[in-house]
Amino acid sequence: MHDVSPYTWDACAEWIDLCASLGLPQLDLFVIPRHEGGPSEKGAGLPVEFVRRLRELHSSGYPLWIHGWTHNGPRGDAEFSGMDPVRVVDRARRALLDWKEAELPEPHGFCPPCWKMPSAALPGLFKLGFRHVDLRFGVARPGTMEWSPALSTWGGRGPFSRLWDRTLPFQKRLLAPFRPRVALHPQDLMAGPARRSMEKVLATLL
Ligand SMILES: [Zn+2]
Repeated sequence: MHDVSPYTWDACAEWIDLCASLGLPQLDLFVIPRHEGGPSEKGAGLPVEFVRRLRELHSSGYPLWIHGWTHNGPRGDAEFSGMDPVRVVDRARRALLDWKEAELPEPHGFCPPCWKMPSAALPGLFKLGFRHVDLRFGVARPGTMEWSPALSTWGGRGPFSRLWDRTLPFQKRLLAPFRPRVALHPQDLMAGPARRSMEKVLATLL
């Protein structure tokens, strides 16, 4: 589940409960350390109560990932889009500092927002200590790549996103031989066609 933050927490909690009640494996939670406030407000994105819930989930088997720093860059939601690798690694380092300051358990890995990032940033992310980097077509580890396409909700509200989300069950069938991962975006799951499509996708996973 992408975009886990205090902003999206209600929808996240609902889907965590739903997936658990369906007997699906524990979701990987992709947490944005400063979704609120941005770089100027230190610690704003990881308030104590939120951190406590994340720790509880982690201790019951939910892997925690760092999902960008603010999820917001010069070109909108795709924080690292068009950014040079040095700046990407610097922002990932700051995200990790926030994470450690909040005393969260060691992250399982890193996922760039919208999966957009210059590939030249990968070695720098590994040097920071991230053992996994989640990308659209697989998970990178130092020296290796596990290929697995991501089946994802669009992450928006426009007509294209609605159309895309309606095709999710079809995409699921199409990608089945490639062992796809399913990416949930909590903002999309509160109501409407994306939610109905994801319910269908979840049904095919049971
Ligand atoms: Zn995201």
